[in-house]
Formats: sequence, structure tokens, C-alpha cells
Amino acid sequence: LTTRHYRAGDLIFSQGDRGNYAYIVEEGQVEIWTELQGDRLVLNILQPGSLFGELALVDAKPRSASASALTDCILSLVTPDQVNQRIDTADPILRLLLLVVIGHFRSESNNFRGTDEPSPELDAALTKAKLSFKERITDAVDMIRLEGEMQEAIAKEQFHLMYQPIVFMNDLRIEGFEALIRWQSPKRGFVRPDVFIEVAEATDLIIPIGQWVIEQGLKDLKSLQTKFNSDLLMSFNIVGRQTNNEDFIPWLLARVDHHGLTPNKVKLEIIERTLFSGDSSAPWIENCRSRGFALVLDDFGTGYSSLQYLNEYKIDRVKIDKSFVDGLGTNQNSESICSAILQLSHALGMTVVAEGIETQAQLEVLRSLGCDYGQGYLFSRPLPFDQVMALPKD
Ligand code: C2E
Ligand code: CA
Ligand code: CA
Ligand code: CA
Repeated sequence: LTTRHYRAGDLIFSQGDRGNYAYIVEEGQVEIWTELQGDRLVLNILQPGSLFGELALVDAKPRSASASALTDCILSLVTPDQVNQRIDTADPILRLLLLVVIGHFRSESNNFRGTDEPSPELDAALTKAKLSFKERITDAVDMIRLEGEMQEAIAKEQFHLMYQPIVFMNDLRIEGFEALIRWQSPKRGFVRPDVFIEVAEATDLIIPIGQWVIEQGLKDLKSLQTKFNSDLLMSFNIVGRQTNNEDFIPWLLARVDHHGLTPNKVKLEIIERTLFSGDSSAPWIENCRSRGFALVLDDFGTGYSSLQYLNEYKIDRVKIDKSFVDGLGTNQNSESICSAILQLSHALGMTVVAEGIETQAQLEVLRSLGCDYGQGYLFSRPLPFDQVMALPKD
């Protein structure tokens, strides 16, 4: 952190200056003031530990007030770079909310001063993306709205589950199902799960939604086991916020028990990003597996998969991403990648499932490579519970 020294009375910045930094008062006192009809109006006197000039960190618009040293003082400089990176990686709702608040604040202080300048800098600084500021605000507002609607959706039972069979590659018998959530919103119609799960994941909403999915999925699994056979499995998609919650595994164990099921019939699908970010994964994985829940590494090959991780952490199964399956039969590279994933996984004692199998040709290649399980429209689309219950017994 760079520091600067000021003498009592020194001007730190004037209203209307372009802001490049924010400041932290380390020693002394700082006066924030503005001029109103020729009079000096003191807005605030800041003590050590205070941050000021902070709007300059998110946009480069003119300062909305002046700052002077009231006593001799030492200030630390905070640069936009220090903050931008954090804003970029912040929770998306928080980030968008911040933009809305800044937007409102800016237009209020413009009204106060009676000016209404356009803000190209604001646009540039805030949106490195292709979207305009206005669109991003709309985006933010919509995300916040979506969040509220999802809260309502839980209460009003607008979610339901679909079950997609996962089959043994050799004889195509059903091993189990992947539970996939659906939301029929009265306002928006069908909302894609990857869209609303992302919003839910950015907040704690994923916790009640995730609990609902598991509760419903376990209940239906029990019915399926009773009707077909007691070896059927259910696979659930789980995200980071759920795995970070230390109550999750005990809760899951209790629910499994409540439904008269055993942990070895429950699989948890996790994407690499979730599993390998942070250092808390190793104990979590261990805990999960020691309780008998199998872990499936979802969308394998699309993340930052480090092969080292596979060696360090004990995963039960790897799910080859659809993007590699798509190319099978036409793209030699896809075949090489699938083949490598299969050899590596098997060598490390993991089983492999391939997702998104749509053609007989893809099935043949995967079979010849020794893939253990398959999932895809070729076998079945995700089905509502009553259609699964109506499948022929064999
Ligand atoms: P995913 O976990 O990779 O799920 C596989 C997706 O591929 C599902 O999309 C499934 O319907 C689709 N799919 C399966 N076979 C085929 C095929 O042969 N061809 C094609 N084109 N697609 C196929 P869906 O149901 O739209 O779900 C999308 C994503 O939403 C999921 O990707 C998962 O990441 C997330 N998701 C769904 N349900 C849940 C949930 O209950 N919890 C969480 N956390 N995420 C969920
Ligand atoms: Ca999945
Ligand atoms: Ca997947
Ligand atoms: Ca996926």
C-alpha cells in the first residue's frame, strides 16, 4: 500500500476532479466538504480507519465533493485494480446489486448538483463485458426478481423432478437414475435448470432447493425400489454451497434412513470446480465416502481437471462430458480423449459413465472402449416419475 503525507489545510482532491484512488485515513483527520452557493459546507470529518473517495474505485467519474487535511495526516492509497479483481469474482448478485446502487447514487448526486452528465467512464469501467450498463442493471434487477420468484416456487411447489435412466453398457439394464430438477414458472414458463440453479447457487437459496430435490428423489427412489428392485440407485447433482455446509452429510444420512434406504444407493454428482476449489474438499470427500455415499465427478474433462487430484482424492466414478461423446464416430480426437479417460479412471479404480449418448454409433465406440455405464436420449430422455413407474418390469 502506498502512503502519502499531507499538511493541515492541504487539499487532497477537489470536487470535479477525476478520481483515480480511494484513501484510507491512517493518521490525522480529513474534512469532506462541498461548496453550496459560495459557502463551504462540511459534509463529514473522517477519523483514522475511515475510507473515502471509494466511488473512484468502481468508476472514474468526477469527485462529488472535496477533501482536505484538517490536521497533518497520513493516507494510504487504494487503487481500482485492487478492487476490480474482487468485484469481477464476487457473487454475481452482489456484483450486480453494487452496480445498481452505484447507478442510483450517481444519479442522486447529479440531481443534487443539478447536472446530468452522461457517464461513458462508468460504462467502460463497470462493464468490460459486451453488455451496456443499462442492460446489466436490467439483468441485475431480473436476477433479484428471479431469486424472489424461486423462493415463492419452493413454497408453492412449482418444482418437480425428472428421472433419467443410467444403464449398464453391456446389457442396457437400468442401474439407476439421475434426478434432474424442472421449474414451470407461472410467469416465465419453463426455466432452464442451469439458468436458475446458477442464481440459486449464488445465494443460499440452493440449500432449500437442494434439500427439496433430495427429499423428493429419495421418496421416489423408495417407490421405485419397491416396484422394480432394491438395487436401484439415485444420483443427485450437488453444488459447492451444499458441500461447504457441515450439516449436509448428517442431514443426508438422516433422510436416507428416514426413507428406509441405504447410503450405498445414493450417488452425489459434483463438478470439478466445486470439488477442487478450496482446501476443505479432502475431509469432505473422505467423510462422504466413509458414510457410504458414492461420489461422481460430473462433466469430466471440461473443468480444470488435474490428474493429480484424481490420484489424491478417492472418487468412485467419473462422468465423461457430453461434449466428448458428441464427437464419437466422427471425430478421432474425441475417441482418443474418451479412451484416455477410461484407461486412467479404470487404472485408478474408478468406474466410468458417459452422458449425452444419442446414437448407436456412439454407443458402439464407448462399448468397445470399455465404458461401464451410459446415459442419454438413445436410452431414454429424463422422464416424470409416473412414466418411470410405468416402465416394463423385466
Ligand atoms: P448435468 O448434470 O450435466 O445433466 C445432464 C443434462 O444433459 C441434463 O440437462 C439432461 O437432460 C441432458 N441430457 C441427458 N442426455 C442427453 C442427450 O442425450 N442429449 C442431450 N442433448 N442432452 C442430454 P438438464 O436437465 O437441462 O440439466 C442441465 C443442468 O442443470 C445439469 O447438467 C445440472 O448441472 C443442472 N441441474 C439439473 N438438476 C439439478 C439439481 O437438482 N441440482 C443441481 N445442483 N443442478 C441441477
Ligand atoms: Ca449431472
Ligand atoms: Ca453432466
Ligand atoms: Ca453439464
